[in-house]
Amino acid sequence: TSARPDVLIAASLPPHLSQRLHEHFNCHDINTLSEAQLAAIAPSIRAISSKGETKVTRDFIARFPALEVISVFGVGYDGVDAVAARERGIEVTNTPDVLTDDVADFAMTLLLSTARQVVHADRFARSGEWKKGPHALTTKVTGSRLGIVGLGRIGKAIAKRAEAFDMTIAYHNRSPQSDVSYRYVADLKTLASEVDFLVLSMPGGAGTRALINAEILEALGPKGFLINVARGSVVDETALIKALQEGKIAGAGLDVFENEPNVPEALAKLDNVTLTPHMASGTVITRTAMADLAFENLQAHFSGKPLLTPVPR
Ligand code: NDP
Repeated sequence: TSARPDVLIAASLPPHLSQRLHEHFNCHDINTLSEAQLAAIAPSIRAISSKGETKVTRDFIARFPALEVISVFGVGYDGVDAVAARERGIEVTNTPDVLTDDVADFAMTLLLSTARQVVHADRFARSGEWKKGPHALTTKVTGSRLGIVGLGRIGKAIAKRAEAFDMTIAYHNRSPQSDVSYRYVADLKTLASEVDFLVLSMPGGAGTRALINAEILEALGPKGFLINVARGSVVDETALIKALQEGKIAGAGLDVFENEPNVPEALAKLDNVTLTPHMASGTVITRTAMADLAFENLQAHFSGKPLLTPVPR
């Protein structure tokens, strides 16, 4: 093995991470390699630097016989076949905790802006429409009922913020959390039927695909709002668009979509939605911390030190 390990950059990474990788490793950027060039360097690749939703499949992993570690920039690693990696003893790391506050802040931002129609009201004020009369009335947040799907690190940080808004908090996970006093609801449809805001902060991937379907939206009802900072894959987007168009739910605040960066035109046409481009962790401080952590996991691995944040087994 050479002094500088060969690292494959498998996604378009932020400059700060890319720079640190290039300073310490022998980097190969998949976007600049031909198929033949990739095949030629594949036997020497010891690490992959990737992003959460970038596909690192079983077949892809199999192309790299010397692969030791996959470092994911992001807490979600639904694009990586972690089972296939584990079978070969390949470590997977992600970037938990450092982004939790920002994602929770953003969930509340989407919740508040959707309920109070901030984006619509901004357009209303800018366009001069105000001169024709006042803006329509909006929905009160303080004291309302919140349902969180995926009460993990981010979900708990959302709940903490919601407490300050005197919200009644209930949640749905596959199993109840022992360190919280919020009400656990074992059935997702029941939870949806009992809340004013359903906030999604569970992981993406096969286990949660289209968990939020027409039936759940129907249960959320015409006064209910859906807020998604999890992954586009957890919602049946076609069913959501239909529910929004037909007033089966009151509105939605969405940071994530099924086919990013494509936002369905039907969604963009609606006034009862707030749409943002997958930016919940997108502050300068947090993205820098994520990049540092993604790099430091690789550095730890190649210095023979314990990984900082391996994904759970
Ligand atoms: P955690 O692992 O701490 O929490 C995930 C929670 O989801 C757990 O409490 C888990 O509980 C629950 N969960 C898992 N599977 C299911 C299921 N099938 N049904 C219901 N609940 C489930 O992760 P984080 O809080 O750190 O992150 C959560 C997700 O947020 C990430 O995986 C990522 O996809 C998304 N995210 C989005 C960002 C954005 O920019 N919009 C930024 C950062 C993260 P249990 O195991 O008991 O089911």
